[in-house]
Amino acid sequence: MADDFKKTTIKNFLIFVTAPTLLGTFGLYVAAYMVLIWASASIDSTEAAREAHRTEHIISELRTGIAREQESVTIWGDAVKMLHMPDGEERSAWLDANLGGWMHSYFGHDAAYILSPTNTPIFASFKGERQAPAAYKLVETSAQPLVNKLRKALLSGDEGGISDGMRSPGASDFVRVDGHPAFLSVKPIVPETGDLKAAGESYLHVALRFVDGDMLQTLAHEHALGEMRFSPSPTPLPGESNLSLMTEQGDLLGYLFWEPYKPGAAFLKSIEWLLFLTGVIFFVVVTTLLAAIYYRLIATRNSEERIRASRLRDPLTQLPNRLGFRKLLDETLADGASEQGFGLVYVGLDRFKQVNDALGPEMGDHVLREAAARIGRLTRNLGTLSRVGGDEFAFIMKGAKTPTCETLARKVVEVLGERFDVGDSHACVSGSVGVVMVSSDDQSRSELGRKAGIALHAAKAAGGARVAVFGHHMDNLIHDRLEVERALRTALADKQQFTVVYQPKYEAKTHQITGVEALVRWQHPARGPISPAVFIPIAEETGLINDLGHYVLTTACQTAAKWPLAKVAVNVSAVQLKEASFAASVAEVLSLTQLAPGKLELELTETAWLDDSGDTSSNLGELRELGVKIALDDFGTGFSSLGRLRESHVDRIKIDQSFVRGIGQSDRDEAIVRAIVDLAKANRLEITAEGVETTVQSEFLYDIGCDELQGYLFSRPIVAEKVEALLASGTDRTASITPFQE
Ligand code: C2E
Ligand code: CA
Ligand code: CA
Repeated sequence: MADDFKKTTIKNFLIFVTAPTLLGTFGLYVAAYMVLIWASASIDSTEAAREAHRTEHIISELRTGIAREQESVTIWGDAVKMLHMPDGEERSAWLDANLGGWMHSYFGHDAAYILSPTNTPIFASFKGERQAPAAYKLVETSAQPLVNKLRKALLSGDEGGISDGMRSPGASDFVRVDGHPAFLSVKPIVPETGDLKAAGESYLHVALRFVDGDMLQTLAHEHALGEMRFSPSPTPLPGESNLSLMTEQGDLLGYLFWEPYKPGAAFLKSIEWLLFLTGVIFFVVVTTLLAAIYYRLIATRNSEERIRASRLRDPLTQLPNRLGFRKLLDETLADGASEQGFGLVYVGLDRFKQVNDALGPEMGDHVLREAAARIGRLTRNLGTLSRVGGDEFAFIMKGAKTPTCETLARKVVEVLGERFDVGDSHACVSGSVGVVMVSSDDQSRSELGRKAGIALHAAKAAGGARVAVFGHHMDNLIHDRLEVERALRTALADKQQFTVVYQPKYEAKTHQITGVEALVRWQHPARGPISPAVFIPIAEETGLINDLGHYVLTTACQTAAKWPLAKVAVNVSAVQLKEASFAASVAEVLSLTQLAPGKLELELTETAWLDDSGDTSSNLGELRELGVKIALDDFGTGFSSLGRLRESHVDRIKIDQSFVRGIGQSDRDEAIVRAIVDLAKANRLEITAEGVETTVQSEFLYDIGCDELQGYLFSRPIVAEKVEALLASGTDRTASITPFQE
């Protein structure tokens, strides 16, 4: 069950917490990463656009730059003068040093040409090497339009080209030379104080610079651009930026391609490890948190389970409690156990309350634990024993038939009848057992509980220490306390339903009648006789016992006053004894009924006598002063009171019937009875044994020194008329005579 619970918890946790959290976290992480990528890409594209623009500008600067560089030698008087010198080695060498090779070594121009006023090449230099003027052929086709354009401008005196620090007109363009893109710039060679008109007939200087190769390398290096290449095809390599190169006429020469600078991507790359680390930390933190939550959840659930389980368990005996038993019974019923039939066994401890009150809760707890252990030993292999009430246990016997259940029940009675010892103290509590045989007709748990309760009650009402199997005749038994209380109140209004019966007491030695004990009887008009064992406890709880007790006392005194008997005994409850007016009311009854106080004996239980609360002790004192006798009823059920007997003002003790019952059967019971008698004698107390049913018991009791005997062996409780008949027939009764019934 715990495993199932754990499995479902783990499954639910995985489905409803772990998976969504991990997915959510991962999603969040991915989203953050995407934003970074997007941001870096957008930075990169802005940068790429800026770079393309810059490159375009650089290229155009380059173009004007070449013209400007050219101009540094074309506006030069010496050059003009030199050109007007006759052709020869001296002139050629000078031209090469200043207008050819120098342009290459200083500015990096690839070629330089000089055209005569008739456009005939008179000088050529290629990559710093002087060449025959005919080498001009290389650029002639591309240069011709520029030459024409410049000549025209020079002739017309157009000064449009002079600006931006240019002092002479010129013409330049992108051209293709030998399959390579190149700049071509044409400038007139004029004196410093130049008459431009005259320049119409001047020499022209043609400069060539290839745009690919070296120049691109230098360009990329100087302007911190990526690797550059030129291609006539427009197809870029992946990620490349490009710029198209056009001639003045709008003809496409080809494209410049370069690796763009990507600050976003670079940034992203630089923080890659950080992102990875953050991801790992994020994951670890979330997983740890989830694990912590999970373990917390499991712990909470486990403790809840424990609390739930402890709610079903009695902490004292570790047995299932009432709730736990209900669950067991429900499960048994749900299992269909009633198809084969099963026995429901209720066990009640007969005198537990007295033991608990007299010996204290510690001893009470010990008795309960010990009782649970004793019953448990009998039921161990048959099922689970539960503690369903303060002093009540319950047990389910699956598949059992009536005789089996009864046998077990009797064994339970037997083991509970044995004395309970703890340290120096002992306690005697007997057990009563109610059994219900459950058949397929019985399905309701509460109905079964009710029946078992009735059976247990019947066993207790019959004197305890016995087994009662539920029968439908018991249904009439009133067990509902409220109903009893209501009926009791009605009955007490006129007391018509109550009578008092008398159980004679006999001298042990002579078997002569010495007195009677008054016992109340209740005949309910609808329900018939109701046992005092049922209604006396309810009358005590509700305080109705004061009224009822007063009625019994008055009736008994009134009746017995006429009888030639030494004593009449009346039972007094602890509740009555606590009432401040009790002793006074007894005195009043005595004077009203004219009964001599010495003839009245009040039977108190040990518990009532030990009770220090209320006015118990002052009542006892007053009663003694009146001369009323005091007897301790049910003696032996709480041995702790023995010590106090010495200083007490008790006249008699009545040995409890549970011990008397053991005479002839249990050595231990006999030993207890013997001990009680010895003790009572040592304290000069009179001793009555009650519940004497056999001659064996009677003889034993006489032998050990009991003064007085009472029990079914001699007489059951009988009505007043029968007592009178008994008295009239003479008092020398024999042990064998039991002529009267109630
Ligand atoms: P108790 O005072 O111990 O009374 C003795 C009980 O044992 C009586 O039961 C009596 O009928 C029964 N008994 C007598 N001899 C024998 C015997 O040989 N064998 C067996 N098995 N039983 C025997 P009862 O009349 O049912 O009374 C039960 C209890 O109810 C009494 O126990 C007493 O505690 C209480 N009770 C009865 N009448 C009164 C009363 O007027 N006032 C008070 N306060 N309690 C009363
Ligand atoms: Ca009694
Ligand atoms: Ca008694």
